[in-house]
Amino acid sequence: MELKIPSLSKNESFARVTIASFASQLDPTVEEINDIKTAVSEAVTNAIIHGYESEMGELFLSAKIEGDVVEIKVKDAGRGIDDIEQAREPLYTSKPELERSGMGFTIIENFMDEVEILSKSGSGTQITMRK
Ligand code: ATP
Ligand code: MG
Repeated sequence: MELKIPSLSKNESFARVTIASFASQLDPTVEEINDIKTAVSEAVTNAIIHGYESEMGELFLSAKIEGDVVEIKVKDAGRGIDDIEQAREPLYTSKPELERSGMGFTIIENFMDEVEILSKSGSGTQITMRK
């Protein structure tokens, strides 16, 4: 399943609900679905506010089922992450002025079973997560 949507904040809820609906074919518990929704929401919000900052861009989402695992990708073609290790640290944020708490990646890693971050400065970021 693939989605390509503009990086508007109103599309965050669309992405979250659509991916959750796709994952529901695995018959997850309410808790599992809530974890997936939260992780998607954090990744999409990051793509919008950090990847594209104030500019408009495209968000690419995909999901597939492999056995009893759902694999979800959230991708942007935005500014990219300079230091992925630092970005993963709890409480690290590059936007403290926007009152971000720096907990997005920590939440994604806690709520999903596997998380991969691929990013290149200047060309974008792809988050792959499995549960
Ligand atoms: P919070 O998620 O708690 O609101 P945050 O977004 O700053 O705060 P994280 O989601 O953990 O915290 O992300 C950490 C940092 O990684 C961000 O501050 C930003 O610098 C960088 N980052 C995350 N996602 C992207 C992205 N898609 N493109 C560019 N930079 C990103
Ligand atoms: Mg975040």
